[in-house]
Amino acid sequence: MKYDVIIIGGGLHGSSTAWHLAVREPGLRIAVVERDPAYEHAASIRSTAGVRVMFSQEENVRMSQYGHEFYQGYERTMTVDGEEATVSFRRQGYLHIATSPDMAESMRANHALQRRLGCHVDLLDAAGTAARFPSLRMDDVICATHSPDDGWIDSHGALMALRRKARALGVSYIADSAAALNVSSGLVRSAALESGEALEGDWVVNNAGAWAHEVSAMAGFDIPVRPMPRTTWFFDCRAEIEPLPLTTDAANGHSIGFRPEGAGFIAGISDYARTGDFDWEPDLEGFESEAWPRLAHRVPAFEAIRLRNAWACHYAYNIFDGNMIIGAWPGAPENFLIATGFSGHGLQHAPAAGRALSELILDGGFATIDLDRFHCRRVPENRREPERGVTA
Ligand SMILES: Cc1cc2nc3c(=O)[nH]c(=O)nc-3n(C[C@H](O)[C@H](O)[C@H](O)COP(=O)(O)OP(=O)(O)OC[C@H]3O[C@@H](n4cnc5c(N)ncnc54)[C@H](O)[C@@H]3O)c2cc1C
Repeated sequence: MKYDVIIIGGGLHGSSTAWHLAVREPGLRIAVVERDPAYEHAASIRSTAGVRVMFSQEENVRMSQYGHEFYQGYERTMTVDGEEATVSFRRQGYLHIATSPDMAESMRANHALQRRLGCHVDLLDAAGTAARFPSLRMDDVICATHSPDDGWIDSHGALMALRRKARALGVSYIADSAAALNVSSGLVRSAALESGEALEGDWVVNNAGAWAHEVSAMAGFDIPVRPMPRTTWFFDCRAEIEPLPLTTDAANGHSIGFRPEGAGFIAGISDYARTGDFDWEPDLEGFESEAWPRLAHRVPAFEAIRLRNAWACHYAYNIFDGNMIIGAWPGAPENFLIATGFSGHGLQHAPAAGRALSELILDGGFATIDLDRFHCRRVPENRREPERGVTA
């Protein structure tokens, strides 16, 4: 089996790469190897699915702007045989809260950048925030940024539609596991699958998310990206409160993110110290001891809530500087490309990352958003590029 491009991992990133390649270059032979076609363990399905423009780095803002455009256009771009695709983009806004002078200072600088890039983001003082969201406690708040056009999507719907469209464009999805890569004369020549089949390819793309380090190891090198377990708690609240945006808060240095979901809410805490191994057990104790006090601190009505469900998944976390890596690893095969390390913003950045990978393959360099700052060569060069916005 010979392909132009073999993509390992068929979540939102792998499917975005495949779609962008297939749209640009019809006739390209593209295989997506995905071992879990039901996506039971994929971050793409278990994500909070937020899309926001509030970042500190221009590249990250621009990637999110493309994410907005991409998901907003689903009805037009992802329809197959008259069957419309929708991602139920709910623009209920994002709210980042600053409770320390340092956070407030960086929030103001980020806000200036976001406005310069044409984003609709309002910088509010505590009174302005309370006027919009009366259910929030404000006595420790210095300022907040609110982006009313941001929101969240149906990530399952988004992935299914993207996959269906990619297949309609001729992409082959292969339900199998990539088990080994055959490297010779400095290039990856083929991928051996668990079933025993071997796929030859001119390019191999590692879009394996939190498993990307395992796939890179098959090509003989290590990347500093590891899984960070994160539990999502679903709870309901008896009190009637106004429609809240996706809110991130770090009062007293303890961060939490929460947003409405159906008739209730979901919440999560990023504990980067847990980075290392996969852990599929939801942290129920952490809801009582960590999450609930933080939730009730910010929203007093959350004193009376009931935990209904919880599930675990993993950020692909870059232990080097917390930001994405993209491109070919220096010294590794040049036809083996990676994009991973997106922590909690890979759903909104999947469209731009997939497009960027398609550009590396078809144009030989970044053509739309220059992502050179995030190229993986910065790791061996020891050049850190942390995102200084809220990273929850
Ligand atoms: C709890 C949580 C909340 C999040 N919230 C947000 C958010 O609000 N906004 C946002 O933008 N992002 C968010 N993210 C991040 C976002 O969900 C991820 O960055 C994104 O979904 C990653 O997509 P992916 O395709 O790289 O990985 P995945 O969706 O995990 O897909 C990788 C796929 O690779 C496959 N695979 C792995 N190894 C192999 C192999 N050897 N052979 C074949 N297949 C293989 C796996 O089966 C898997 O399906 C969140 C993540 C989590 C965990």
